[in-house]
Amino acid sequence: LSFSSCNLPQKLLQNLEGVGYEMPTPVQMQAIPSALTGQSVLVSAETGSGKTCSFLVPIVSYCTKIKNNPQKPLAMVLTPTRELCIQVEEQAKLLGKGLPFKTALVVGGDALAGQVYRIQQGVSMIVGTPGRLIDLLTKHDFELDTISILVLDEVDCMIQRGFREQVMQIFQALSQPQVLMYSATVSKEVERVAGSMVKDLTLISV
Ligand code: AMP
Repeated sequence: LSFSSCNLPQKLLQNLEGVGYEMPTPVQMQAIPSALTGQSVLVSAETGSGKTCSFLVPIVSYCTKIKNNPQKPLAMVLTPTRELCIQVEEQAKLLGKGLPFKTALVVGGDALAGQVYRIQQGVSMIVGTPGRLIDLLTKHDFELDTISILVLDEVDCMIQRGFREQVMQIFQALSQPQVLMYSATVSKEVERVAGSMVKDLTLISV
C-alpha cells in the first residue's frame, strides 16, 4: 500500500511528499484505509509508530472533501497533555498546507477567550486536552454537533489521569462521531471505554 493508492486529495499527497514521508508506516497502512471508509478503530500503537499521521491523513482528507460547511469544526483530537496537542497541531499544519484546513488549540496555559475566538473564525479541527475542552463546553455552550471524527490519543494515559469522566462527557456532547482511538497498552479498561462509545470497533495492532 502507498499513500497514492488511498484516493487522497492531490495537495495532501504533495504535502506528504514534501515532509519526506515516502511510504506509510505499518500503523498507517492499516489505520488509514479503515479510517477513510468511516470505520471506528482501536489502534494499539506507541509514539514513534507514525500514529499521528495515521489519524491526520484521514482527517485532512475528510475535511477538505466536505465543502458545505467549512466554518464549523468537523474533527476533534483529544490528547492527555498540552505538549502533545501542540505537536499534533504542528503536524496538521504541515499536512494541511495550502488546503482549506484551519486548526484551533484548546489547551491550558493560554486564555480560553482567544481560543474560542479562533474557533468562531472558522476551523476544521480542534486539538485539545479534556479539561480545557470541558471548560469550552460548559462556559461557552459550544455546539459540537458538526464533529464527525473524534480522535482519542493515548487513551490509556487519559484514563489513568482520571480524565475518564471528562472524556465521556465530551463524547456525549458529540453526535455519534467516527472514533479513532490510540493506546500503547490495550487493557480491559481501555476496551471497556472504547466499547461504551462504539459498537462496531475495528481492532488494529501491528
Ligand atoms: P508519531 O508516532 O506520530 O509520534 O511519529 C513518529 C515520527 O515518525 C514523527 O517524527 C513523524 O514525523 C515520523 N513519520 C510519520 N509517518 C512517517 C512516514 N510515513 N515516513 C517517515 N516518517 C514518518
